Amino acid sequence: MLTYYNHLHSQHHGKLEMYRGELVPCFEVPARVDHVLAELKKRKFGAIVPPESFDDSALLGIHSQRYLDFLAGAWDEWVALDAANAWRDVLPSVWPVRTLRSDVLPTNFAARLGLFSMDAGTPLTEGTWDAARAGADCALSAAQAVGSGQRAAFALTRPPGHHAGADFFGGYCFLNNAALAAQALRDQGLERVAILDIDYHHGNGTQAIFYERADVYFTSLHGDPQTEYPFYLGYADELGAGAGLGFNRNWPLPRGTGFELWRATLQQALQGIAAFGAQALVVSLGLDTFDGDPVAGFHLQSDDYLSMGADIAAAGLPTVFVFEGGYAVAEVGINAVNVLQGFMAAAA
Ligand SMILES: [Zn+2]
Repeated sequence: MLTYYNHLHSQHHGKLEMYRGELVPCFEVPARVDHVLAELKKRKFGAIVPPESFDDSALLGIHSQRYLDFLAGAWDEWVALDAANAWRDVLPSVWPVRTLRSDVLPTNFAARLGLFSMDAGTPLTEGTWDAARAGADCALSAAQAVGSGQRAAFALTRPPGHHAGADFFGGYCFLNNAALAAQALRDQGLERVAILDIDYHHGNGTQAIFYERADVYFTSLHGDPQTEYPFYLGYADELGAGAGLGFNRNWPLPRGTGFELWRATLQQALQGIAAFGAQALVVSLGLDTFDGDPVAGFHLQSDDYLSMGADIAAAGLPTVFVFEGGYAVAEVGINAVNVLQGFMAAAA
């Protein structure tokens, strides 16, 4: 399996995030991808290549122009406010909820920061745009490879993407790599593309982007949003809207879920993908379902990820894997590559 590696990922390196009332060291760190890269090399898993460069217009199928403009210029604006800001990450602290207006684009930087974000856990740093932009190139490159006949490809990148909406960041995510990959497959002429999100957290951004579309089916297994981030989306009664009604399916599971129930639920999600008649699959590959993940609550073991990969391969679809969450840093490489190895062994 070809891996598109984001060599700029460590340019995004947040110092602190708001967590349970205090600023704590970021969970989403460059070492996560370093461990996956090391494990790929250790197992000689396949070629690891840089992505191709795509024009910014490739992002506009998913993200709004004003959001992309904000992200690209945010760091320079931040430092222009105060030279000392160069040593501080950007974190929002005010948001336009409910009866406040989100149609106005304020000139105030903090106000725009809140307009384009959803939480205070996602620091924007000097290199965030460059890292996220190269990550999008990885996702687009992997989609191009799969759309051109490869059985599978892997976008190894951070920051992750599935919480990012058309016009907001959050949940450690800035550009929605899985959504970009799915749209790229559509643009290559595939009529029906499915997205399977197996991160512990619901992929709210991805769901929202495709919620009213019948050409991209979104299905997600995740911790019940009644208790788990992102809290405000990911419930079982969200089935799509308008032309997209019937093309969204959520599988919330309680904290403490182990692999037996998780795997049985995966089979149901895969049946939905088969019934949809998908011609290609994008997997939001989060590994925070692992037992011992510091920000999650399932109990999957490392060997379970081999079975997971085999089950996904059994869908028989050309597949793009996009790296998402997973914060048990020492194990994330083993677990991620176990999924890919299980997939390739079953696909052979
Ligand atoms: Zn997650």
